[in-house]
Amino acid sequence: LGNDQIGQHVNDHIVMPLGIYVVDKSIDVTPRDVYIPVFATTVWQPEPEQPGQETVCCFDFFSGNFERLWFMIAHLYLAFLFPNSIKRFVIRLPWLFNIIKNVIRVFLQGVNFIINLLWGLYNLVQGKPWHDDPSLITAAIKFNAAKEGCYSRDDSRIELDFFGEEEQSHFNQDKVVANSEIAKHMALLNGLGEQPHWLVKWFLRLVTKMPYEENQIEEYVDVYSRRFLLSEQHLSGGCLFGKAIDKGLDNAIDTGKVYGSANVYVADLSSVPLPRISTQMTAYLIGFHVAKRLCVGNGE
Ligand SMILES: Cc1cc2nc3c(=O)[nH]c(=O)nc-3n(C[C@H](O)[C@H](O)[C@H](O)COP(=O)(O)OP(=O)(O)OC[C@H]3O[C@@H](n4cnc5c(N)ncnc54)[C@H](O)[C@@H]3O)c2cc1C
Repeated sequence: LGNDQIGQHVNDHIVMPLGIYVVDKSIDVTPRDVYIPVFATTVWQPEPEQPGQETVCCFDFFSGNFERLWFMIAHLYLAFLFPNSIKRFVIRLPWLFNIIKNVIRVFLQGVNFIINLLWGLYNLVQGKPWHDDPSLITAAIKFNAAKEGCYSRDDSRIELDFFGEEEQSHFNQDKVVANSEIAKHMALLNGLGEQPHWLVKWFLRLVTKMPYEENQIEEYVDVYSRRFLLSEQHLSGGCLFGKAIDKGLDNAIDTGKVYGSANVYVADLSSVPLPRISTQMTAYLIGFHVAKRLCVGNGE
């Protein structure tokens, strides 16, 4: 098509899981509380004279008993277990990914079984009912990566630039945002419930470095940016309105038409810059918008 704008502005959300807490027994955690997305929203603003652009961050909350929570967030924690070099390798081999995923699922079932058994026995010894496990809560912070990535035509892959530094100043906006917004919300996070037993906390910090105190945040962000890097799987922006595709301002019938093509149309999330809201809803909205404009163009 000769359209060199395709694949130039790809981006995704950075997701950083945060500590696990034990919910107060007086609070009734229901299945509806398992996933509360985009609950707390905060805006990071650069200080005067500081580089960078303001950005919106959201906190998602996950709560339930150990088993529910474990399955819900297992995919987040899996990222902590593999070093990036292995993740890079595995992602190119879907069959290997499937094998690892299923082995891990079986492993998780086994871990759950043992934990439920031990917990049940402990409850019985204490004279409590078999199922009296506490509810847990955890959160994740999510924000747009400051630097765009791109599609590499040579080897057909999308390269994101999470925690990318500015070339001249070495300013790393993603690090600054993560440090500042986690610190601002540490009191909220610590207010979610009680911190887990020190042994559990020690293990979590050993594997993930996730912070429970303000002075642990910088280390977590640094280690996370070098070793883990989770995307929210919200890729967008590869085929932007006005750059790679027609906005349809002159002719409604051209809305979404790829520049350089006679009849290729795009009506999905790739046509907009990364929103910091539900990408699914945004994709529906774009599909609806393009379809409506095409109807107008066809005189319907
Ligand atoms: C695990 C996961 C969890 C998510 N959770 C949420 C969430 O909770 N909330 C939220 O808002 N968003 C969520 N998202 C993101 C959301 O699903 C996407 O942002 C949204 O689906 C994007 O819509 P789309 O139409 O742009 O692309 P897609 O939904 O990816 O649609 C692309 C379609 O094109 C088809 N296709 C690809 N190549 C070809 C080809 N060559 N020929 C023909 N067809 C092709 C694919 O099969 C697919 O059906 C999640 C994504 C993932 C992966």
